[in-house]
Amino acid sequence: HHHIDHATPEKVLAAISAGHTHAESPDYEDLAAYRSAGGYARLEELRAGGDWREVQAQIKQSGLRGLGGAGFPSGTKWGFVRSNAGPRYLAVNGDEGEPGTFKDRYYLERTPHLFLEGMLIAAWAVEAETSFIYMRDEYPAVLHILAQEIAALEGAGLVPAGYIDLRRGAGAYICGEESAMIESIEGKRGLPRHRPPFVAAVGIHNRPTLVHNVETLLWVARVVREGPECLNAVEHNGRTGLRSYSVSGRVKNPGVHLLPAGSTITDIIAACGGMLEGHIFSAYQPGGPSSGLLPASIHDVPLDFDTLQPLGTFIGSAAVVVLSDQDSPRAAALNMLRFFEDESCGQCTPCRVGCEKAVKLMQAETWDQPLLEDLTTAMVEASICGLGQAAPNPIKSVIKYFPSEI
Ligand code: SF4
Repeated sequence: HHHIDHATPEKVLAAISAGHTHAESPDYEDLAAYRSAGGYARLEELRAGGDWREVQAQIKQSGLRGLGGAGFPSGTKWGFVRSNAGPRYLAVNGDEGEPGTFKDRYYLERTPHLFLEGMLIAAWAVEAETSFIYMRDEYPAVLHILAQEIAALEGAGLVPAGYIDLRRGAGAYICGEESAMIESIEGKRGLPRHRPPFVAAVGIHNRPTLVHNVETLLWVARVVREGPECLNAVEHNGRTGLRSYSVSGRVKNPGVHLLPAGSTITDIIAACGGMLEGHIFSAYQPGGPSSGLLPASIHDVPLDFDTLQPLGTFIGSAAVVVLSDQDSPRAAALNMLRFFEDESCGQCTPCRVGCEKAVKLMQAETWDQPLLEDLTTAMVEASICGLGQAAPNPIKSVIKYFPSEI
């Protein structure tokens, strides 16, 4: 048995008030408003005698996939976790550290209970003994809302006191990697673990653990409340479902845009009201810095899971950054590698030393392409986790798509 030091909502509220004096509290749908619109009715029905396999079937039908970036089918994940003997845990990854990603924050500041109900439905489905929310500490308003609303749920008798353990991250990008997050929840340094075993079998305190991203759980609640059609009825460019694109850069209206999963960069820029005055679209980051950059000439590919693989990249958390003729892809790639150099946990040499060497090589007036290619191969093949494996993507994309720059 392991001792788990529960962070009570009161403790979190006190800590946030001490650390951040200017936490804005945006208007959001509170417990009373959510319940009066039918919220938590499905959860109560399920708890009173629902069949988790029926809910799992609905999730599978909807096509829901992990929206933290990996895109793993959510219903299948429930099955893996359930297939391992209990006690089981649930952990929500709310670290949202991928640069350019801000969708989880957007939703939590508006509809926190849609997320919380989804979380409690998933916890019910895998019979989680307790649940953890690992929340990005740079979101003081979100922490405030969650602490308050978890206390409200406890007050309303919808969860036992202490069932939802709200944890604050400490600003390390690597703690968004699920096994590093689990180490951090256990009170250790956030170092990614070797896999296998996977966290669905050996997670928090070596127990089977269901890990979901915030937005994924919000969709669990919607699918269970509205039916799988809320996702699978949306089709565009041969793709099914919806994606929350976090868009920033040289567009008129940056922000979170919920669009069909088959949206192209052309669709996304249009949804943002077009390019800023005086800027000509030149390149874009399709899904966080780990995805590197694509040129404006590739404008008709759906930005979805799987579709970018032939181009050597991926959609990840759908953090789209739009660059213009006034930006340098080469400078953007260097900035990305500097970020990875800062955020490498240092556990393995190819990533720790590789990021540092890459930054040095990328600062040369002319890139030593063969040497950079050797380095990227070593990093991709020998790094323990996704950070080191994907860190060379910006380098590879500049070599492939913007050769005149280097
Ligand atoms: Fe740490 Fe980088 Fe190795 Fe991942 S790849 S374990 S971040 S050193």
